[in-house]
This record gives sequence, C-alpha cells and structure tokens, in this order.
Amino acid sequence: MLLLRKTKAEFGLDLFDGTEAPAPGPGQVTVQVENAGICGSDVHAYEWTDGYGFMVPHLPVTMGHEFAGRVIAKGAGVTLAEGTAVTVNPSVTCGVCANCVRGDQRNCLDRKTIGLTLPGGFARYVTVSAGNCLPLPANVDTEVGALTEPLCVGAEAVLTGQVGLGDTVLVMGPGTIGQAIALFARAAGAGRVLVSGRADGPRFDVMRQLGFNDIIDVAEGSLLDQVMALNNGRKVDVVIEATGYPPAINDGLGVLRTAGVLVVAGIHPGPVSIHLTNFVRARHQLRATHSCARPTWDKVLTLLGRDPESFRPMVTHRLPLDRGLEGFELSRQRAASKVMLRP
Ligand SMILES: [Zn+2]
Ligand SMILES: [Zn+2]
Repeated sequence: MLLLRKTKAEFGLDLFDGTEAPAPGPGQVTVQVENAGICGSDVHAYEWTDGYGFMVPHLPVTMGHEFAGRVIAKGAGVTLAEGTAVTVNPSVTCGVCANCVRGDQRNCLDRKTIGLTLPGGFARYVTVSAGNCLPLPANVDTEVGALTEPLCVGAEAVLTGQVGLGDTVLVMGPGTIGQAIALFARAAGAGRVLVSGRADGPRFDVMRQLGFNDIIDVAEGSLLDQVMALNNGRKVDVVIEATGYPPAINDGLGVLRTAGVLVVAGIHPGPVSIHLTNFVRARHQLRATHSCARPTWDKVLTLLGRDPESFRPMVTHRLPLDRGLEGFELSRQRAASKVMLRP
C-alpha cells in the first residue's frame, strides 16, 4: 500500500509503496483510513525546520496524526465492533512510567505520537491500540471526524484561557487551530470573537464561512487601532495566539485589558522579549497550552455531534494520497486551509 513517509532528516517527504499494516495483536485494531488531515506541524516536519529532531530515531515514519476511518480487524480482548467509524487520538502513553502509574497519563515521561514517532494515517491501513480509537457520533462522517484532533487542541486553548460569558476574545492566526479556537470561544459563550492575521485571504474566507466576520488584517493597519475600532474603544478580555510568529506575543499583550489572559498556542521558532514592567503593572496572565487532555476529546466529540456541518468549511481541499505532496505544497503556501488526504 502507498505510504507518505518522512525518510530523511532533511526537506521533503516520500511516497513509498510499502507492506500492509501488521495484523492487530491483543488490544489492537486495524483502521482503514478514510480521511487524514495535513497539520501545520506536518508541514514543519516536511520543511524540516527546527524542533523536529525528536523524529530522527524513528525514521522512516509514515506521517499523519489527524485521521478517521473504520475498524476493519481487531485483536483479542477488543470490544469495538468491526465497521465502527472512529477517530484516533495520536498520543500513545507508556502506562509504566511514574506519572502514568499515578494516573497522570497526560504527563507521561515516554509519550509517543502516531504519525510522528509511530506509523500514522497517511496510509490506507494503520494498526493502533483500541484505546486510542474514539467512536464517532452516528451523524459525524470521517471527514469531519478527522478534524477532531486539531479541534481538541483549539478547545484546550479556550479552556486554558478560561473564556467566559460575554467576553471579547481575540484569536491571532486564522489557520485550523485559530478556527478551532474561534469556534470553541463562541461555544464557551464569548460575546465577541475577533480574528487577526496577515494577508491570509483563503483562511480569512474560511473564518467568514464559519461565521466570524470581525477580521483584522494586520497588513492593512495596526492591530491596536483595528481592535479598538471593532471593540468600542476597549481592549479585549482574552487573547489566544496561534500564529507561531514571536512578535505576535507583544502585539497581543498590547491589546489585552488589565488582568486579561493571553494564551500562547503557537509553536515558535525563537524567543521573544517582553517589557516586564508593563506586564506586571497590567497584571497580565501569560499562559501556555499544548495538545489536550483526554477528557477534552469527549467534549469535542459531543459538540461535533451537535452540528457537524458547522465544522465542514474548515476543509478546503480533498486529495488522494498519491497527490499528498501537492497537498503539502498547498498548505505550505497557505493557499489551502485544511487539506484532507484520502488514502
Ligand atoms: Zn496536528
Ligand atoms: Zn508513561
């Protein structure tokens, strides 16, 4: 079967005609992948920017950590029925380290990730632990289901920001994670959701289709001026950053009200310096979010089941796996929002 793999510690990915997925052992299932999204971190691994050295001992590895499909075979002890549509939580915990034993799997000391350090979903079949599979609600198809992982990342960022009823929230960055943040900020009761980005037409269009029309293009004027114009001259209650562009942190602090919360969700290529006196006097709360807690998956699946079609505009391109490299180039050039590969 065709596999889209990272083979070398350098720019690029390879389409490879590999062997079938192994038969499922005890506690495992084989999933026939129907939809697998290209994530921003996949694009970084493709470009081989800093921060992906952890993959080197695992190369070659089939990528793809945002996917959904159907269980087609199962090993001993698995209760999931064959044919069940599932989305796959890519985080694999060891079960034996001090934190796992304590029940704190989120902080596993030996975490692995399906699609980054274990074989992933850019393949027709993948064998994974049944414990990583979450059945989709009956009205959610595998295309929307494959959005679950990035939606969970966005939901966790909103939980971290403690977005409250009536709050004004600024989402920095209109990509998939920014879209997820905007959707869940609205679901959490935000009164107004502003979205900022720089000359990002295709992804601004997705934001509009999702119902977010207060869009700030920082290529056209300062963030502060545009926030003030849209928010009746007031700074915002919560800023959630998903740009990965270090100067965005200071721009975000500049539009945050006293004692407001700024959540950093982007993966940044370098450091940033902050004017600490202003930071202290404004009592700004600077927080980080990364990945998500297991209970967040259940919350997101419940919300997906409530109105699956409201999430579908996030997917802008659908391609067969043999055109996967084209999908990566579309993502890299920000010509696409979410690209789904169909193995
Ligand atoms: Zn991802
Ligand atoms: Zn562990």
